[in-house]
Amino acid sequence: MTPEGFLRLVNDITIWKKGSQRAPHKPLLLLLMLGRSVHGAARLITFSEAETRFGELWRRFGPPRRGLVQYPFQYLVHDGIWEIPRASELPSWGTGYLRLTDLRKHDAEGGFTGEVSELLESDPELALRAAGLLLAKHFPISLHDEILEAVGLSYAWLVPGSPAVREPGKKQRMVIYRRPRRLVFRKEVLEAYDERCAICDFDLRINDELLGLEAAHIQWHSHKGPDDVFNGLALCLLHHRALDRGAVGLEVKGTGYRVLVSGQVRGSNPSESLLSDFSGQLIRPPRSRLHVPRRTYVDWHRAQVFRN
Ligand SMILES: [Zn+2]
Repeated sequence: MTPEGFLRLVNDITIWKKGSQRAPHKPLLLLLMLGRSVHGAARLITFSEAETRFGELWRRFGPPRRGLVQYPFQYLVHDGIWEIPRASELPSWGTGYLRLTDLRKHDAEGGFTGEVSELLESDPELALRAAGLLLAKHFPISLHDEILEAVGLSYAWLVPGSPAVREPGKKQRMVIYRRPRRLVFRKEVLEAYDERCAICDFDLRINDELLGLEAAHIQWHSHKGPDDVFNGLALCLLHHRALDRGAVGLEVKGTGYRVLVSGQVRGSNPSESLLSDFSGQLIRPPRSRLHVPRRTYVDWHRAQVFRN
């Protein structure tokens, strides 16, 4: 296997599909393992450790439903980069489905194949490139740094001279995004909302340049959300992050939408009021009726991201 071959396999992992539901099981487990490999951890992870660490990642970055590591732990084998060396010792071996009770009872070990592990060891940058592919395909950009940090990785390591890059003089690599993006999305969305946050009216500027106002996708771009104004909202940095982490959601109210704040949000004041003050309030409508967010994207977000 070549490094490019490995990246191709990572890019092509099969993902469980049902409608437009998010299913980041495999991406989260792979990101966790890529982080471990860079830190020199053992090639195989025990099922109990995988359950704990995957559970933490799922609670932060997974959809608002239960996520079990038993699925990616065994089904990644079919993607050609993973193995469970002693799977044949499990009672449910041969049935095509390893039972959770067996995986737990025998604390089965799984991980990258020896071949993949050698590749990752010989080139730590490869782990970051693979992580970049997974992030680009399965998560919005606003969450990339947080997820990398959670698994112990950082793009900063791609800078020449950093300790994790053994070959000196290499330039920082660009991550290749699979879906082309419409570059006018940001401009169109910000204009549609008069360059103010649709939740809090934030419109700070420095030298007439916007400071911290962004165009957010309601249905994530990584999950087929289009770069169209009616799938966008102008939001300040805080409210954009809150939307992508599921701390706020939207609900139809009359001809517009009102803000929902997750009951899981905690903080002392005045921090908490930066969200709670807007709970139940209508968001700013766009200038044109044509640009009102479409219900289908708002519903996707509430089902797949919002932490109710
Ligand atoms: Zn705001």
